Amino acid sequence: MIDAIALLKELISIPSVNPMGQPVIPEIHLEHRVTDFLESEVRDLGVEYRRIEVLPGRDNLLAWYRAPQSDFTVLLDAHQDTVPVETMVIPPFEPRLAEGKLYGRGSCDVKSGVASMFAAFARLVAEKPKHSCNVLMAFTVDEEYTHRGSSALAGMDHGCGLGIVAEPTRMNLIVSHKGAVRWKIHAGGRACHSSTPHLGDNAIYRMARVLEALAEFACSLAGAPADEMLGAPSLSVGRITGGQSVNIVPDDCSIEIDRRLIPGETVEGAIDQVRQFLKQRLSPGDFDKIRFGEPWVRMPALRSEISRSFWDKLQKGLAGPEGHVPEIGGVPYGTDAGPLAQAGLPCVVFGPGDIAQAHTEDEWIEAVQVTDAADRYFRLLADWHR
Ligand SMILES: [Zn+2]
Repeated sequence: MIDAIALLKELISIPSVNPMGQPVIPEIHLEHRVTDFLESEVRDLGVEYRRIEVLPGRDNLLAWYRAPQSDFTVLLDAHQDTVPVETMVIPPFEPRLAEGKLYGRGSCDVKSGVASMFAAFARLVAEKPKHSCNVLMAFTVDEEYTHRGSSALAGMDHGCGLGIVAEPTRMNLIVSHKGAVRWKIHAGGRACHSSTPHLGDNAIYRMARVLEALAEFACSLAGAPADEMLGAPSLSVGRITGGQSVNIVPDDCSIEIDRRLIPGETVEGAIDQVRQFLKQRLSPGDFDKIRFGEPWVRMPALRSEISRSFWDKLQKGLAGPEGHVPEIGGVPYGTDAGPLAQAGLPCVVFGPGDIAQAHTEDEWIEAVQVTDAADRYFRLLADWHR
């Protein structure tokens, strides 16, 4: 049987940092080293698998467990990438177990999920339980930035009837989360010497007017119809750049916008709403000189429609020791379940660890949760048809 803790330690020691749009540092960035490791583990199990390139050096790895008799397939999804490590105060790739906590980048988000799902998968392969369902185990790439791995998986004809996505949910069942769209707005102008500003057209001043309108729009969103689990949608401007030098009237300025979506909203709809609002609020001269960039994050919100029969199975199968029954709820952060559910697959998010420790400077997970999660995934899938 695979020891999920030992596996997690190995995974932490193999860097698979998501470059998040920054220049690639070959030693630590991209998922291919972890994919190589997982591929050799999967090959050792002797199951059918596929390694599919999503981006250069970034492959989804898919492996299939065929149950003795089942016509139903559950997708297990866990991402291979981690967030960057620059701000960490512990060695990111040296797993350390102390007082029941396992430290290292990815220990919580979400190499713990990779390890516990893989341990359950390997046990199914070894034991072939009579009442088990089929399982497609998917290790995806680029969850932390643009969800390209899960989007590629969502576009495949995978034949699954339910998806379980690993994220640190403290073993609760998450059926709903916000989505996000991020894009730039550029304001143009005309440059000239700063001693004769009347001859130019200041792009930073123009952007100031855009920002004033956006602040008003963000306020109005807070009062927009809210989702019962997730609250209201939101908009935030997080970055601004512009101008070349203090003695030049600037001819360009750009901002980066983060818009959080609630179920029912679409990426295109949210961007168009901003465009229409600015069109109303700005003068035609200003509106004509702004330009919307292509969004680089377009993650749909999650609201999974889960049938009653699945609920009973999930709550019973994923119940823990001492009678812990997973609670059903929503979370503010996005997951791979967004793109998968948008493509029509009912999805829940369930995994070991607490999101409070994800992405932190001393990321850790309570080690006992990793083996507990492996047991729960196994029991759910082993008893699927019981
Ligand atoms: Zn994650």
